[in-house]
Amino acid sequence: MRPVELSERVIRALVGRHEELARISEPGPGVTRLFATSEHLQAIELLRDWMQTAGMTTRVDAAGNLVGRWAADPAAGGNAKAILIGSHHDTVRQGGRYDGAMGVLLAIACVEALAAAGRRLDFHVDVVCFSDEEGTRYGTSLIGSRAIAGVLEEAVLDWKDAGGVRMRDAMSRAGFAPERLATCAYRPAETLGYVEAHIEQGPVLEQENLPVGLVTGIAVGSRYRFTVEGVPGHAGTVPMAQRRDALTAAAAMVLACEHVARERAEVVATVGRLEVSPGATNVIPGAVTFTLDLRAPDEPRQSAALEAMVIAVERVARERMVAVRHEAYYRADGCEMDTAMRAALARAIEAEGLPVRELFSGAGHDALALRHIAPVGMLFVRCRDGISHHPDEHAEPADMVTAARVLLRFLADFAPPTRA
Ligand SMILES: [Zn+2]
Repeated sequence: MRPVELSERVIRALVGRHEELARISEPGPGVTRLFATSEHLQAIELLRDWMQTAGMTTRVDAAGNLVGRWAADPAAGGNAKAILIGSHHDTVRQGGRYDGAMGVLLAIACVEALAAAGRRLDFHVDVVCFSDEEGTRYGTSLIGSRAIAGVLEEAVLDWKDAGGVRMRDAMSRAGFAPERLATCAYRPAETLGYVEAHIEQGPVLEQENLPVGLVTGIAVGSRYRFTVEGVPGHAGTVPMAQRRDALTAAAAMVLACEHVARERAEVVATVGRLEVSPGATNVIPGAVTFTLDLRAPDEPRQSAALEAMVIAVERVARERMVAVRHEAYYRADGCEMDTAMRAALARAIEAEGLPVRELFSGAGHDALALRHIAPVGMLFVRCRDGISHHPDEHAEPADMVTAARVLLRFLADFAPPTRA
């Protein structure tokens, strides 16, 4: 079928809206837009206006998600299903203007192009702007997408933010309806799929000079706390050969973990926190705790990497005569993207004359929640210097236009598997 054109007007709007939306922020550098705040409500107003101008019918659900519908061709019958396309409006503190926002604005641009071409599809296109993905305010992420997938536990409504405000109170104050959370959920039977374009947040596409990439899956991530116990002592009187220094042991352990990760494709490991006790200039460290954030494409590779790291850490402990133990304290599920969605996105990328570069995501995304109700697919867009979650985050307009063309082709060529 003839591709739907992306007009100059739609392109200009797509680029300019990133600036306009970024102005809705708490004061300070970058963009800070959190769940159920006045900034959230202002963002809804602005996005709703753009959606309605594009010809969508809009609603805000009980969890503060904004949904705009580009209704199916009436010829498709009254039982048309929906494709969900979008991302999240919320940010980390002092984040960038593309993370999340770009996925929503690209989706709106696609509908504008369809509208300009007078095209209705055999299914509804539901542009979703999730109320919370980052989890910045309440320390639990994917609030919006979990509500839409029907997998948000009621218990989180009682979580409090840093100021002691319970989530359900913040939501009620914002005009949402925590008591009707269940009404947010899409039924799997009415949902054909979820597709999202997101800034890569890493350097791979830039290094390979590609505007977009195809996401194969989202990493499994776990965090561990290692505790190293040595023997504290006087920095002046204990000879070097007799020391059981917990910090020098921990340093060797950190390097050992790095070594294991470097030997394995697609495994990433980070030690980001270290606490030294007693932490005095003139005392040999007696105890150290350090964290390990470990991510891999799937469970087997994650467990194998952890096992190798623990073996390496224990070897260091024996050599340096210290004790070490570890415990897991956080776990994030990963997921694979749906095969058919991946194939359809790959065809759309190729149709734009581009190679299909497959990437897996080391960061979590809304697709993690949506996969419970629908096949999911994701596109990554090149990001300058791999910088994200920072005011310097940047995507080139030309790359966003390429992403919009890919998504438009994907939508225009998407064939619902069955028609009810
Ligand atoms: Zn994001």
